[in-house]
Amino acid sequence: MTRPIHLFNTLSRRVEAVEPLTPGVLTLYTCGPTVYNFAHIGNLRTFLFQDLLKRTFQRAGYEVRHCMNITDVEDKIIRDSQKELPEGADNGTRHGAMKALTDRYTQAFFDDLEAVAIPQASFTFLPRATDYLPQMIALIQRLEAKGLAYAREGSVYYRIAGLPQYGCLAHLDREGMQVGTSVDADEYERESLSDFVLWKTFKPGEPSWASPWGPGRPGWHIECSAMGMELLGERIDIHSGGVDLVFPHHENEIAQSEGATGHTWVNHWVHGEFLLVEGEKMSKSLGNFYTLRDLQEKGIDPITFRYAIQSNHYRKLYNFSFEGLTGARNALERLRTFRKRMEGNFESAGGGEWKEALDPLRRIAQAREDFWTALSDDLNTPEALAAIFTLVSDLNAQDDRAALTREERDAALAFLDETNAIFAGWPHEEASLDAEVAALIEARKAAKVAKNWAESDRIRDQLKAQGILLEDRKDGSVGWKKA
Ligand code: AMP
Ligand code: ZN
Repeated sequence: MTRPIHLFNTLSRRVEAVEPLTPGVLTLYTCGPTVYNFAHIGNLRTFLFQDLLKRTFQRAGYEVRHCMNITDVEDKIIRDSQKELPEGADNGTRHGAMKALTDRYTQAFFDDLEAVAIPQASFTFLPRATDYLPQMIALIQRLEAKGLAYAREGSVYYRIAGLPQYGCLAHLDREGMQVGTSVDADEYERESLSDFVLWKTFKPGEPSWASPWGPGRPGWHIECSAMGMELLGERIDIHSGGVDLVFPHHENEIAQSEGATGHTWVNHWVHGEFLLVEGEKMSKSLGNFYTLRDLQEKGIDPITFRYAIQSNHYRKLYNFSFEGLTGARNALERLRTFRKRMEGNFESAGGGEWKEALDPLRRIAQAREDFWTALSDDLNTPEALAAIFTLVSDLNAQDDRAALTREERDAALAFLDETNAIFAGWPHEEASLDAEVAALIEARKAAKVAKNWAESDRIRDQLKAQGILLEDRKDGSVGWKKA
C-alpha cells in the first residue's frame, strides 16, 4: 500500500498528485553538484530537501530509484583545474588535473552529505559525467538526425525554434525568442535566450574528447539528459533541483530529451527555493559564504543545521542566521528529552484518576494522521513537525498526571522512529562544542598561523583531556569529534 503524495509541479504551477509510471516505484533524478569546490550551505539546502522528498516517498511505501549525477566536466572545473598547467601540457595531463580536482571535491561532498544524514548508499545511481561521453554523443547525434541540432565550427548547437514546447517549464515568451543566434556559455539569463551549446569545440588549454565533430567536450545541459535517460529511462516521474536550474538548465534538458524521443520525459518538476544569509545572496565578497565545515568549526552540529532547514517549507526562501539555529537546537533538545522520558518508566506525581483525560494510543494515532496529512500536502514540514510537538506536549502532560504504560511509551517511541526515518539523525546527542572549546580551537588556529607549535600542541592536549579529538584536514579546515 502506498500513500498518495502531492507536490507542486513547476510545469503546471499547481500542486498535483504524483502518480508513478510504474505503480509503487518512483524514479527520481536530481541534479548533483559541480565538483570544483566545497558545497555551500545553500547547495546543501537543496540536497536536504531532496533527501526529505525521497524519505517521504520511501516511508509512504514506494521503492525510490534515485539518480544524482556528479558534474565533473564543466566551464568552472576546467578553469580551476587547468590554471597551474604549462601551456604545452598534453591532453592526458589535462584530463589528469581535472580528475584530481573533481575526485577531491567529490569525496568532500560525500563527507558533507554523510554529516547531514544523507548516506551515499541511499542513492541508486551516482553517475559521473565523464563516464557517459558515448551516451552524450549518441544523444546529440539523435538530435542532429531530427534536425534539432546543427554543427558550426566544431561545436554543436540546439535549434530551439525547432521544438514547439521550448519554454514550457520556464514559461518563456516564445515571441521574444531570438532565432538563429547561439550562446556558448552553459549559464545565461532569459534575456540572452538563444540556441544553446550541446558540444563545445576544443580550445587550447582545455581537456578534450574525440567526437564526430572533432575534439571537444560536452555542454553542461546534455550531461543530465544523457545520464538520466540512460539510467532511469526515457520517461521518469520526478526531476528536481534548486529554482535557479529552471532556466536554462532544466528547460534545455526538456528540449534535449523530448526533442530526441518525441514524448514527455519528466512528469513532475520539483524545485526548491534558495537559502539566503541574513537576507542576502551568499558571496565570498560579502563575507557571508559558508560551507558545512565553516559551521562545524563554529561548533554547530550538522544535524542541527539539517533540522533548521527541514523545519522550513522547501518552497519558501530560507534566511540563514546563526541566531536562527537556536530554535532548531531547542526543538531537538525537546525531542531528545521526550525520547529519554519515553524510554524510562517514570512514576507520575498524580494519581490514576486523570488517565481518562487523554487516551495516549488514540492521541498517537491522531498525531500520525496529522503528520502524514501535512507531508503528503507538498511536503509541509512545518505542519508535520507541529504534529510531533503537539503530541510531545500532550503526552508529557498526561505522563505527569498518570504514568503512561510501557505499551503507550513504546507506541510513542515507534512514532518517533517513524518520523525520524524522514527527518533523520536527531536521536543522537548533540555534537556541538561549548563556547570555551570553540575558543580554544580558534586560539590553536591562531597559534599555528603564528607558527607557535608549542602553543598549538598544548591546546590540542588540553582539548584531548576534555575528550575532544581534533583532525587537521588537507584543505586547512579543522574537524573534531568526541573521544
Ligand atoms: P551546483 O553545484 O552549483 O550545480 O548546485 C547544486 C544545487 O544547489 C543545485 O540544485 C542548485 O540549484 C542548488 N543551489 C545553488 N545555490 C543555492 C542556494 N543559495 N540555495 C539553495 N540551493 C542552491
Ligand atoms: Zn542537471
